[in-house]
Amino acid sequence: MTHVKLNAASQGTLYVVATPIGNLEDLSARAVKVLGSVSVIAAEDTRHTGRLLAHLGINVTMLSLHDHNEKQRLEQLDAYLLAGQSIALVSDAGTPLISDPGFTVVHELRERGRTIVPVPGASALIAALSAGGVPTDRFTFGGFLPAKPTARRQALETIKLREETQVFYESPHRIMHTLSAMAEVLDQRRVVIARELTKTFETFLSGSPGELLSAIQSDPNQARGEFVIMIEGAEASEPQTALAFSEEMLLEALLAEGVGVKQGAAVAARLLGGRKQNWYTKLQAIKSGD
Ligand code: SAM
Repeated sequence: MTHVKLNAASQGTLYVVATPIGNLEDLSARAVKVLGSVSVIAAEDTRHTGRLLAHLGINVTMLSLHDHNEKQRLEQLDAYLLAGQSIALVSDAGTPLISDPGFTVVHELRERGRTIVPVPGASALIAALSAGGVPTDRFTFGGFLPAKPTARRQALETIKLREETQVFYESPHRIMHTLSAMAEVLDQRRVVIARELTKTFETFLSGSPGELLSAIQSDPNQARGEFVIMIEGAEASEPQTALAFSEEMLLEALLAEGVGVKQGAAVAARLLGGRKQNWYTKLQAIKSGD
């Protein structure tokens, strides 16, 4: 398909518009203005967005845009832009493209030099982090953990030693399985789950995965709704980093130089961090040839 080359000024704009994640008042005034002014709204589920638009008294043509038709819709959406008509891209809840459709369209249209403007607003990920009480200076968002038990466990093993906060989305039918896997892999690590953000039953629970499992088992309502899981990062001082080789060398050198196990543990803890008791155990194992 060939396009007539137009000035950017005569082309339409693709607005990527965040919608509420529960509380309808979390829609910005700018988002309302944009939704009411575009020629077409590309929506993940037109019935779902239709209800929001009805609530706002907005009547605009909608097109469905989901994981299975993004490529197909691309040229159609681009044709609107080239004809000078603007589009709003929305998902069912929160910010489009964040574990939601839209990437192919935004990526391709940006490659083609179209004007793409974000209209920011709610996102469960950021809402959860902002009130969850976990470190937010560095975090990794992992989307949804794999559904299959083995792959899920492997994913958790992979992030186990990461020092920054890990954030995942989770659904009600998998929350218990995920917490059980976390109890096995992450042991006593502090986890915060944010449930039903901005809605009537908004709840934050924190504790080890095992404690969270017990809390939910004793109140099954806590397994209902939508979840964001935040896992605190591994302690930087946990003696389980890439230093494993030089660690070993240091401990052996200490013993070879006749430093006692107790004193050696104090030196190792001072140099490498971690608890003296752990170093004591390691030194004793090396000394006894285990
Ligand atoms: N694009 C959305 C955003 O910006 O948050 C996320 C879409 S993703 C398909 C849906 C997942 O987001 C849910 O399974 C849940 O993990 C999380 N989520 C969405 N709304 C939520 C809410 N109100 N409270 C907690 N988690 C929510």
